[in-house]
Amino acid sequence: MIPLDEALTTVLAGCAPLPARSRPLADAVGCVLAGAEVVARDAVPPFANSAMDGYAVRAADVVDVPVRLPVVAEVAAGHPVERPLGPGEAMRIFTGAPVPAGADAIVIVEDTERLEGGAAVELRAVARTGVHIRPVGDDVQMGDVVAVPGDEVTPGRLGLLRSVGVFDVEVRPRPRVGVISTGDELVDDDRPLQPGQIRDTNRPVMLGLVAAAGAQPVDLGHVGDDDGAISTAMDSAAATCDAVITTGGVSMGDTDLVKVVLDRLAGPGVGGMRWMQVAIKPAKPLAFGRIGERKVPVFGLPGNPVSSMVSFELFARPGIRRLAGHPDDRLSRPLLAATADEPLVRRPDGKVHFVRVEVTVREGDLVVRTAGGQASHQLSAMARANGLAVLPDGPGVDAGDRVEVMFLGEPRG
Ligand code: AMP
Ligand code: MG
Repeated sequence: MIPLDEALTTVLAGCAPLPARSRPLADAVGCVLAGAEVVARDAVPPFANSAMDGYAVRAADVVDVPVRLPVVAEVAAGHPVERPLGPGEAMRIFTGAPVPAGADAIVIVEDTERLEGGAAVELRAVARTGVHIRPVGDDVQMGDVVAVPGDEVTPGRLGLLRSVGVFDVEVRPRPRVGVISTGDELVDDDRPLQPGQIRDTNRPVMLGLVAAAGAQPVDLGHVGDDDGAISTAMDSAAATCDAVITTGGVSMGDTDLVKVVLDRLAGPGVGGMRWMQVAIKPAKPLAFGRIGERKVPVFGLPGNPVSSMVSFELFARPGIRRLAGHPDDRLSRPLLAATADEPLVRRPDGKVHFVRVEVTVREGDLVVRTAGGQASHQLSAMARANGLAVLPDGPGVDAGDRVEVMFLGEPRG
């Protein structure tokens, strides 16, 4: 058996970031920036504007209150006024409207009374210079670096880039990840099961996990335990995808033809398949290598449904994120400390155990309880779990002990 770190290092070494290309910003949410730093073309805000509805004034005119001033103009968002504000004057102003030249303060409408049908106003609060005015560039100055390679285009970052006039970005594409399930026992649809058959759950699960990881899932179907069929599916995967995930057929059984086919397609030496026994439970077997002319990374994940999901989280997801251009410190899910709400018992066996748990927030602390049966075919607990508790080799933890958790979803309140 090899340690988890070593298996992950092997996988990541075979997943180079995909070549970047320019793309409209609007299509790049979820993609990772590459190339050069992104520099602001415009300042934000581009002009001094009002943060509130009220009256633009000179602060010096609104010292002794109440004071009555004539209202000489109205300034709405998108409609600047040419005329400057003179001494002893006020202008009605709305949120986002350019502050007229000469004005240096806003009195909010709540502190005023409209007089003479709007021709004058009574101001009841002292105006202080700069108050409720958003100055030019108080968020971003022209020429500021607003994003760097490795940053993900989140909706918030998209907004920032757009606000500074950036419409095209250099990003790495979302990796196209093909998924193939293998096994003569698998049934794809809702027909009644014949003796010995089970439904193919891994493929739809993997397709969902690929999509949730921000990549493009490609359904390459299910193939039986047949050398020719597996080879054909792998060839098409290697030709059309940036990475391939297979499930099943990588253990020691006679019908584990995935092994035979991948060894043949990957060939010997660099890029060859590496068959690993990782010191973890579940998901001990893992195959990784690169196939075809384009040296496409292949993840041979175990067939048991829980094992394939845990293996995806620990190896395939970080590998896919590396292809997508995420920096090395953002590939794996973060580990957080939580408190065990009940004993999480295990036996020493030289492996790190990943226990499916429910994580909840209690009085500001994270607490974990087991999500149910922990065998590698039991999806019930996986469906309920929002985290994997990481139990190092040993007897497990007692109630009240601290335990590390890898979040798969959000903690429940
Ligand atoms: P294997 O690694 O092919 O020997 O499969 C290990 C176990 O996982 C067996 O019980 C298989 O029936 C089961 N299994 C393999 N592939 C799938 C799948 N796509 N969906 C559900 N169960 C599967
Ligand atoms: Mg099988």
